[in-house]
Parts: sequence; structure tokens; C-alpha cells
Amino acid sequence: MKSKTITINGREVEFGSERNLLEVIRKANIEIPTFCYHSELSTYGACRMCVVDIAGRGIVTSCTTKPEAGLSVKTHTQEVRNIRKIALELLLANHDRSCTSCVKSVSCKLQDLANNLGVDQVRFKKTEATLPMDESSDALVRDPNKCILCGDCVRACYEIQDIGAIDFAHRGSKVTVMPAFGKDLAHVECVDCGQCARVCPTGAITPKYEIAKVWKEIDNPNKTVVAQIAPAVRVAIGELFGMKPGTLLIGQIVSALNMLGFDKVFDTSFAADLTVIEEANEFLKRKTENNNLPNLPHAVQAG
Ligand code: SF4
Ligand code: SF4
Repeated sequence: MKSKTITINGREVEFGSERNLLEVIRKANIEIPTFCYHSELSTYGACRMCVVDIAGRGIVTSCTTKPEAGLSVKTHTQEVRNIRKIALELLLANHDRSCTSCVKSVSCKLQDLANNLGVDQVRFKKTEATLPMDESSDALVRDPNKCILCGDCVRACYEIQDIGAIDFAHRGSKVTVMPAFGKDLAHVECVDCGQCARVCPTGAITPKYEIAKVWKEIDNPNKTVVAQIAPAVRVAIGELFGMKPGTLLIGQIVSALNMLGFDKVFDTSFAADLTVIEEANEFLKRKTENNNLPNLPHAVQAG
């Protein structure tokens, strides 16, 4: 069967089940910037970063364009680069640009793209008022002044977590992403899963860092400070240091925590073992007394 191809920057590229032109372009190892595109989420087509020039059609967003045999696409013409640059400047105009003190600095997609596209000044004036930060959640900090309205958090919360704790509110220039009825994150159905922070390209939703608090307790000679390691961390941390996925680093983690000053280090599974022992004892007691059966595990009872 004859394969289907698209011409991208003068080169023939085969395509198959890719769901949009953007995926075909990326398959050809051509980097196209995006804020609002995640292959695991539905397509939103809002950030305009992925625009390309299709012969006979003009400028289109590649994430919302179906791949079709015979298309001739240019990804980095001067017009395309200008559109991306202006779109980025407009996003930056109302963005809180205190990058040096932002926890997302260096890993911020907005900062990264501004550098790549050569945005060294923002010609547009800030028009929005500064909004209060939401630090109500135990796990997350939400700073609406850094939001670029890409909607990634909204779709992650709804499509991955099936919750919908945050959404778009208001219209036109007033449009904002926020928890329902403008409440704080701690007062809606949020479960602190962190999926929104994972996909947010800027510092608008970030994990809550409590490093200073931990140091304060470590420095307190009258306090026994205990660290607990969740099972996934034993291997996940290795990937952050560029090791092969799955590398087991429990020994190194315990040593590092001891060197930092933690008095004791426990694995979460230690507490799970204690729970199982307690449940077994409870079951034996109930079975012996033939009372209050069946004995459901605590996780099931908690629903
Ligand atoms: S932490 Fe999870 S539940 Fe809460 S807003 Fe983010 S994605 Fe939704
Ligand atoms: S909070 Fe982050 S992910 Fe959500 S819309 Fe704003 S920039 Fe996008």
C-alpha cells in the first residue's frame, strides 16, 4: 500500500495514526513550541505557539489540523516566527515576571520559550490588576499572576483526575482560571494530587515547598525529626539525577537524609506492615469471639 506523506520544510514525512499535524512534525524531529498541547489531554488550540504555514491554506495551528496526504508545510518562516513572538509578548505583558524568585525559574516553559524566540523586551503594557495568591492548600500554591490561560490544569484535573476542581471563569479580558465560585483551593473538591502543577508550564500552580520549615526543625536540638520515604521515591529520584529509570537508590537516600540531620528515616511500607499486623490481630480476635465480621481492611472501610 502506498504510504501517506506530508512535505515538511521540503522533506517528505510519512504519517499514520498521528492525531494531528503537530505530532507528524514532531515525529520528524522538528521542534514546535506549545503551551496548551499535551498528548495525554484533549486538544485546546489556544496558545497559538504551534502555528505553521500550509501552502494554499496560510497560517494554521498545527495541533488542531488533521494530517492529510499532500500537504506542504513550513514550520519556521519569518511570518510564523513573528506570530509566535508577538503571542509570547502578549502573554508576558500581564505575567508577573519576578523570575529570579519564582520556584519554576529554569524549568519554566514560558521563560525557556522567551529565550528561544529572542524576546528581550515586552512592548505591551500590563493591563491587569495584581491578584492575591492562594496558599490555602497543604500541597500547592496558586499564583494567578503567572497564569497564561493555557487551560492545561483545567483539562488535567477534569480529564485525568475526573474531578474538575478548577475551571475558567469570567469572559473576555477578565477570563481567569480559578477554583469554583472563586473559592480557595482548600475549599473545593481538590484532592491535592498535583496533576495541575505537573502540567502547568509556568509558576502559576506549583508544589508547596516547606524546605525552610524542615531546616528549622532539624536545627531544633530538642526535636526528633523523622523522614518518611514513599515507595515510588526509591526509584523516581534516580531519574532526576539522569540515571536509568528503575535504578534503586534507597541506601543513598537514607544516607543523604541522615547527613542532612534527620534523626530517623522510615519507609512508608513500615507503617503498612504495622497496619497489616494490627488488622491480622483484630481479625483473630473477632474470629475467636465470632463478633463483628467480616473484618474489612482499613482502606476499604475508609472508602
Ligand atoms: S491538585 Fe489535583 S484535584 Fe486539585 S486542582 Fe490540581 S488536578 Fe485538580
Ligand atoms: S494555572 Fe498554569 S496550567 Fe492552569 S491555565 Fe494557568 S498557566 Fe495554564
